[in-house]
Amino acid sequence: MALRLFNTLSGKIEEFNPIDANRVRMYACGPTVYDYGHIGNFRTFIAVDLLYRFLQQHGYDVRYVMNITDVDDKIIRNSARDGVSVQQYTEKYIRAFLEDSATLSIEKPLLVRATEHITAMAEFIAKLEKKGFAYRTDDGSYYFRIAQFPAYGKLSKKDFGGMNDGARVDVDEYEKDSARDFALWKAAKAGEASWDTVIGRGRPGWHIECSVMSMEELGPSFDLHAGGEDLIFPHHENEIAQSESLTGQQFARHWFHARFLLVEGQKMSKSLGNFFTIRDLVLKGHRPSSIRWLLTQVPYRNPLNFTFDGLKSAASSVEKLRNFRFRLKSSQFTAGGNQAMSQLAEETVARIKSSLEDDLNTAEAQAAIFDMLRKVNSAMDAGEVRQDDLKPLLQALENFDAIFGVLNDDDKPKMRAILDWARTEGREQDISPELMEIAGLDQLTDERINQRVSEMEAARKSRDFKLSDAIRAELTAAGILVENTKDGVRWRRK
Ligand code: AMP
Ligand code: ZN
Repeated sequence: MALRLFNTLSGKIEEFNPIDANRVRMYACGPTVYDYGHIGNFRTFIAVDLLYRFLQQHGYDVRYVMNITDVDDKIIRNSARDGVSVQQYTEKYIRAFLEDSATLSIEKPLLVRATEHITAMAEFIAKLEKKGFAYRTDDGSYYFRIAQFPAYGKLSKKDFGGMNDGARVDVDEYEKDSARDFALWKAAKAGEASWDTVIGRGRPGWHIECSVMSMEELGPSFDLHAGGEDLIFPHHENEIAQSESLTGQQFARHWFHARFLLVEGQKMSKSLGNFFTIRDLVLKGHRPSSIRWLLTQVPYRNPLNFTFDGLKSAASSVEKLRNFRFRLKSSQFTAGGNQAMSQLAEETVARIKSSLEDDLNTAEAQAAIFDMLRKVNSAMDAGEVRQDDLKPLLQALENFDAIFGVLNDDDKPKMRAILDWARTEGREQDISPELMEIAGLDQLTDERINQRVSEMEAARKSRDFKLSDAIRAELTAAGILVENTKDGVRWRRK
C-alpha cells in the first residue's frame, strides 16, 4: 500500500513508511477523564480508528496505544470539589469512555493509565535533571528548561525568538504564544493527590505523562503520534522536547492531527448550549451508526461542522447502505455472472483504497460505495445481476465496512443500554419519544406495565401459568423486574 499522510512536523503530505517494514507503532493522546467525552473528542478518536483499521486491513501488524489521562489539574480540582479520591472520581468516566467507544464501534487500542506509570515518570524527570534539561524549584516542583532545547517550536512552527529563559508556567494548558519553562512535576500540595517518588512527593504534569507512556510501550522512536489539532502546542511540542532531549533520538516520526469539530458553525461550548456527548445524541433518538457516519464523512484535516440536518442525512446514508445489502442478500438472481458487476465490485474496492491512501479521503471512499450502490440498484431493477455477482459485491461492501464500521453493529442494544443509564442517572426527562420508539420500548409506559402485570396476575389466578410466565418473560426481557411481595405484585425497572 502507498499511504500518503499529512505530517504536521514537516508540514507536508508524505509517504507513510514505518520504521519496521510491516509493523506500525502508533500512539494517540486519549481522553482526560474528568467528564463524559463529547462529539469533538470522538471525531478525533474515530479519525485515528479509521487509520488503525485501514493499516490493519492492508496487512500491517499495528501496535496502537492510547493513554488515559487520569490525573491532571482539572481532575484534581473536580475530585477535591466532590470530596472523593482521584481514582474514585475518574473510574466512572473511564467506564463511560469505554462504553461510548464501543457505542461508536471504535476498535479498542492498548489503553494505558497515567497513574500506573508515576514511578517511570519520576525516573524520567530525574534523568532529565541530570542531563541539565530540568531543574527543581524551592517548593520541590520540576520544570523543563526550554532554552536548552533549541528545536523547541519545530512542530508548531512557532518562532519563539530569544526564549525567555527561566520564565515558568505551572498549569497544564496555557496560552498558545508563550514559550515558557513548563512543569514536569508539581510538588505535593495539601488536599491534592500525590505520590512518593525518587524526586520527592508530588504529581506529574500532563505532558510528561504522554512522553513516558508512549516510549514505554513503543520505544524511544516510533511511527506515528496522533491527537486533535489543539494538542500541537503546547502538549505535543512539549512531548517532543522532553523525549528528544532525553534520548537524543527522533521521538515520533509522523504527527497526525485532526481538525476540530464545530457545532452549527460554532465552537462547541456548554454556555452556548451546543455541547453534546454521545449519550445526549442517543437520548434524542439518534442512532450510534448515524453519529459514526457523520463523524467520518469529512476528511480528518477539514473542520467538521456538526449539524442536526447532517445527522439526519447521515442516518439516511446508513439506512440506504443497510437496505442495499439486505436487497442483495434477499433477492433471487438467475444463474451465471455479469462481468460488468464483478468488475464494478473490483473497481470500487480499488477506488476506496486509493481514496484512503490519499491522506484518508473518507468523503471520496464513501462516494465510491454510493456509486456502486446506485449502479447495482439500477442493474437489479433491469434484471442484470446474476448469482455469481453477489459474492464480489457483498465483499466490496464488507471491505468498505471494515473501515467505516456502520453496517454490522446493531444500534438497538446500544440505545437500550443508554436508556437504562439515563434512568439510573435520573435523566428520564431527557429520554425522547424517538429513542423510546427505536429502542422498541415505546409500549412500556408505566401504564402499560401496570396493565401487563394485572394480566399476568389474572392469568395466574385462573391457573393459566403458561400465559403468566410468558408475560413475566416479556417484561423481564424489556428490563422490568416483577416481584411477588407480601403486599402483592410489585415491579421496577432494572
Ligand atoms: P481531552 O479529553 O480534552 O484531553 O481531549 C481528547 C482528544 O479530543 C484530544 O485529542 C483533543 O485534541 C480532542 N478534541 C477536543 N475537542 C475537540 C473538538 N472540538 N474536535 C476535535 N477533537 C477534539
Ligand atoms: Zn498526550
